[in-house]
Amino acid sequence: MRIIKRLLQVILLLLIVLAGALFLFREDIRADYEAYRKTAVPALMYHSISTVPPRWSKDMCIEPGLFRQQLQYLKDHGYKVITASEARRRLLAGEDVERNIVLTFDDGYANNYTVAYPMLKEYGFKGTFFAIGKKVGEPGYMTYPQMKEMHFKGKMEIGSHSMSHDPLDVIEPGYLPWEIYQPMNLFSDEMNFYIHGIAYPNGAYNDAVIAEIRKYPRFHYAFSGRPGCNTREIVERTPFQLRRVGVYDRGHGIDDFESLLRKCYIEGYLDSKGFPVDRIQALRDKVDMVRRKLAKEEQLYGTGK
Ligand SMILES: [Zn+2]
Repeated sequence: MRIIKRLLQVILLLLIVLAGALFLFREDIRADYEAYRKTAVPALMYHSISTVPPRWSKDMCIEPGLFRQQLQYLKDHGYKVITASEARRRLLAGEDVERNIVLTFDDGYANNYTVAYPMLKEYGFKGTFFAIGKKVGEPGYMTYPQMKEMHFKGKMEIGSHSMSHDPLDVIEPGYLPWEIYQPMNLFSDEMNFYIHGIAYPNGAYNDAVIAEIRKYPRFHYAFSGRPGCNTREIVERTPFQLRRVGVYDRGHGIDDFESLLRKCYIEGYLDSKGFPVDRIQALRDKVDMVRRKLAKEEQLYGTGK
């Protein structure tokens, strides 16, 4: 009986020590994570700031009301919304980047000028807009005078989203100079300033794409589709594979945005510790794709029951 009691005491003691160690370990990780957060700049990706037009993917749009809520959230939580070039500069200079964040807009939709730009100005925030070379001035897209105004008057950043929007990792290598260099050339002719950044269409790139960009020293950075945040190390070592995550309306209002930001920092932290977060993300994307395909087939052919 006494032996059992003694044994129980030892087990209890062991459990307490173990729990304590775990707690300390957790506290340790927590502090490390908090320190990481102060050095990390998330970059968020938007497309159209509008209701969803017919036949458009829901993932391409954030409604203006929700967009405003997100800007308000950033303001209320003390975030500083800066351009991608400014974030790069601050990171390289070792300046304080706590709660700095970059908001980017792909494809150059007209509502980026009519809706997003005035709202950003209202909040004193800066946006970074990646336009598709071939689309500028087409119906539904921003024009050169509009982007020129955003750059010079609004101090927003304009960048390239390639000429054609074809994924750069699968196009004929002979077309790469046209996709990469031509927008810089064209934009400087039309607007009298040089761009410094690229956002890869669909986040896709390979070594040939990076080698092509490196030929033009005016390009300082490129956004990939890799998840996580940007740190000084990432900007120094892999300036043409910067991290960026998409903002999607999952139907939970501002909660979606809050959890996206949390996910961004946590994945950035794990990335900084060598976890293969991009491979996990790629797998997750594949699972999502199959799930959507199955759901569509189920709609088309019924469940078979
Ligand atoms: Zn795009």
